[in-house]
Amino acid sequence: MTIHCCSNIAFIPNDIWEAITIKVATDSIRSLCSLRMTCKAAHDAGEADIVHRSVSIPPPHATPWWWCLKPEAKRFFDRCMAAGNPELLFREALRELFIRRNENIGIQMLNSATSTGHAAAKYALSMMLMLRTDDNVEKQKGLELYRELDAAGLVAGSNARCFSILTISWPSEVQMPRIEEQHTVCAAPRCSPRGHMPLLYDYRRRAAERNSVHAFGRAAHIPCIQCRADYDLQAFVNLP
Ligand SMILES: [Zn+2]
Repeated sequence: MTIHCCSNIAFIPNDIWEAITIKVATDSIRSLCSLRMTCKAAHDAGEADIVHRSVSIPPPHATPWWWCLKPEAKRFFDRCMAAGNPELLFREALRELFIRRNENIGIQMLNSATSTGHAAAKYALSMMLMLRTDDNVEKQKGLELYRELDAAGLVAGSNARCFSILTISWPSEVQMPRIEEQHTVCAAPRCSPRGHMPLLYDYRRRAAERNSVHAFGRAAHIPCIQCRADYDLQAFVNLP
């Protein structure tokens, strides 16, 4: 689309251009670039921090490999990161947590991404908090986040998102946290599945290796939410 200099579109106020540009940016980077090439007003609107924060980042398998070689692409992603793009914050948080081992920075980034409604960041945050053995308040906060994801049906999808980032982006560098008996979330003495989630997880994993239907279902049939959280902790630390 080419905008004629005398077209009425040239007189659209800046805030409307910004709103249009944000909408287009949430579709894809390509759509944003196409819009910014149409006229100066669209180009200028695309400079806003909120546009960089809102732009849709493609999954690793759909990202052209040559982007990492282009200085302008690196500058663009650096600006998105500085503007607080939740998807980039989420990915960088995984890198800080499981490659650089900077737990505090990683948790901080997950908190920022979670505050914008990023489900996979919320999932990773809930897992990291539930792995805490030194702070029961934080562990309970992790369980609360997990409960919200579970109620919204977002647990399995969020787990898959973490898997795709960790295995495609840095397949051999990731070191996940170790999980011990003291990490068990379910503390209900009368809960019958309590303590059996590692066995259930192993059963599902072996079934997956045989392409058996028993690989499916995770811990969805377990009524205790804390035991379901324990199952997901197993699934999380065994991601890559
Ligand atoms: Zn339980």
